[in-house]
Amino acid sequence: MIRLQVQNLSKRYRRGDEPAVKDVSFELPEGKLLSLVGESGSGKSTLLRLVAGLETPDSGTITLDGTVISSPSAVTPPEQRGIGLVFQHHALFPHLTVEKNIAFGLRHLPRGERAGVIAPLLELVGLEKFGGRYPHELSGGERQRIALARALAPNPRVLLLDEPFSSLDARLRQSVRDETRAILKQRGATALFVTHDTGDALSIADRIVVLKGGVVQQEGAPPEVYHAPANAYVASFFGTCNFLPVHSLPHPSGARILCHVGPPRPEEAAGFGVWVRPEDLELVRSEKTDTLTGVITKVSFRGAYLEVTLRCETAGSAPFEISVRHHAPFMVHPGETWAIAPRPRRHGG
Ligand code: ADP
Ligand code: MG
Repeated sequence: MIRLQVQNLSKRYRRGDEPAVKDVSFELPEGKLLSLVGESGSGKSTLLRLVAGLETPDSGTITLDGTVISSPSAVTPPEQRGIGLVFQHHALFPHLTVEKNIAFGLRHLPRGERAGVIAPLLELVGLEKFGGRYPHELSGGERQRIALARALAPNPRVLLLDEPFSSLDARLRQSVRDETRAILKQRGATALFVTHDTGDALSIADRIVVLKGGVVQQEGAPPEVYHAPANAYVASFFGTCNFLPVHSLPHPSGARILCHVGPPRPEEAAGFGVWVRPEDLELVRSEKTDTLTGVITKVSFRGAYLEVTLRCETAGSAPFEISVRHHAPFMVHPGETWAIAPRPRRHGG
């Protein structure tokens, strides 16, 4: 069942400004997690505020469980939408205990019934012993989990999260986002979350909507947007991506290059090319003359691998750079010439 439907939504803050959101449409099925991802200023928060009922659209509609809750002529107030919110700075009340923070969203329940809701939520987020603590007695990750428990307490039809992990450091962020996904899934929650971090989106979401300048670039499952980006913008937004002019890549076997990503739109490329990610290429020793070769210009240590940049010059194309993710066993150095080949697909890969 479609829980939330956004149709042709547009919003401009001031006359004469570019619209913050332009003709955006997407659907969020019940029990699914959808991420709105885009760089700063791409309209993510505006979309979330529209869904929350904090802004009125200029055109388009938002439908919740079949009922229109936002249109240019009528906006159901936020408190009547059954929507929960988790913001960037999780904004727990500092003077209230964890239990009282969670109880805040349960004012509609008789006092006696609140404990019965709070206990299982604390258990769900793994903090059953923390009910009596104050927010300053919690770590960043624990505060995040309590904020989530508080938002889930009233059983919202849709949970909205705006950059929920941005105040966490990189290490904590990874574990908190995995936990968050697990908690939301266990609860069967329907959630829309906004992030500028592609890692967040890829690891949490069931579906991703990529925004640029208020316009949807692509909507798809995480592997789709990563491996089959709709355009050059999406390809490079989700990580380094090489554009290879394919006419300069003859292969003796006659085989075509296997790559995960699609060709760019015609207006983005002079001639034909393929987009290929650094992890889908490898450096090989080759005596053959018809193999693509490049001179290493840069080697950056990334821990588990080396990010190697090569400058390639081939007949019929301008010099271009290629980035290859290189794993030991052999070392490579700037100034060396290497052949570049598509990395063979591993079984099941
Ligand atoms: P994001 O959350 O992706 O960073 P926003 O939705 O906050 O993007 O902003 C989208 C665009 O709308 C930006 O150009 C921003 O400057 C503009 N904008 C956001 N909020 C307001 C506002 N209250 N008044 C005027 N312009 C705004
Ligand atoms: Mg924002």
